[in-house]
Amino acid sequence: MFVRKVIGSLVLACSLVVSANAASDKVNWKLAMSWGSSLPPFTDAVESMAKMVHDMSGGDFVIKIDAVNKHKAAFGVMDMVKLGQYDMGHTASYYYKGKDPVLLLFTTMPFGMNAFEQYAWFYYGGGMALMEKSYEKHGMYSFPGGNTGMQMGGWFRKEIKSLDDLKGLKMRIPGFAGEIFAKLGCAVTNIAPGELYTSLERGTIDALEWVGPGMDISMGFHKIAPYYYTGWHEPATELQFLVNKAKFDKLSNKNKEILRVAMRTAAYDMMIHNFDMSATAWDKIKTEYPNIKVMTFPKPVMDAMRKANTELVAEESAKSAEFKSVVESQQAYMKKARAWTTIGEFSYIRDNQ
Ligand code: CA
Repeated sequence: MFVRKVIGSLVLACSLVVSANAASDKVNWKLAMSWGSSLPPFTDAVESMAKMVHDMSGGDFVIKIDAVNKHKAAFGVMDMVKLGQYDMGHTASYYYKGKDPVLLLFTTMPFGMNAFEQYAWFYYGGGMALMEKSYEKHGMYSFPGGNTGMQMGGWFRKEIKSLDDLKGLKMRIPGFAGEIFAKLGCAVTNIAPGELYTSLERGTIDALEWVGPGMDISMGFHKIAPYYYTGWHEPATELQFLVNKAKFDKLSNKNKEILRVAMRTAAYDMMIHNFDMSATAWDKIKTEYPNIKVMTFPKPVMDAMRKANTELVAEESAKSAEFKSVVESQQAYMKKARAWTTIGEFSYIRDNQ
């Protein structure tokens, strides 16, 4: 009887401890994204991440998602996460190059790595540690949040026949590619995704780049600017989950791992989702959108872009040791990885057309 009583008390005590732990493990977070409420595959990645976190935690860890129409700051996500107004965000690191140029390197670089190479760099080539260091001074962690793969070079009203056609052209293009176009005489701007079509229609811009056929064609850009150029400027655009550092550090080990796994799974899923969207759109492009003119920039234009890229990387590297160390890590990794990509994927495709 006594033994049964003791065991009974122990069970009661244990269950109180368990329920006390469970109560303290309840987490309610808010996420701000740079996108409208429905922008596949970006918003799907955020929603699936939040659902995985909810389900894996048995409903103890809940992430509420706010779209841009709620928080009104497509390019303010980094600041809101930094200040703790939001616990985390989903955005693109290169939107914040004006705050800290090194951040653009964690999205993509013109003439840089493709998605395979860049993911290998992040997870096995030292990229995650460099990104953690660069974001630490801003009070946050950054995690890969989904890759678009190769992006198209953008939509233009007129054919780009020479470098002269770029002079004075008003173009929406973010990241380091924007610096290159500016150096070649374009008036460069960045515009929030929700305002792209209107800006092109009203003539605020003459040209723009967005992502690729899967996301571009549904926006209707081709109705105004039918010259669609192949890509060079964003070969592996990685979005980011930004997480407030103090908030992340306070999570239990279990919730940290749940969040990490959910973000990484959602990122992978976004990449293949976007690939499918583009493959499906491209399959119909000739029959359903015969007015779209698929072009490649002339060689002198490409050569000038490559030269401007080299010069600008050297200028930024001279200004910042941190920028230099990240860009050198990427270039060294790309050199090694590209040799394998060339003999592997590239040879396979070239020899089996
Ligand atoms: Ca883009």
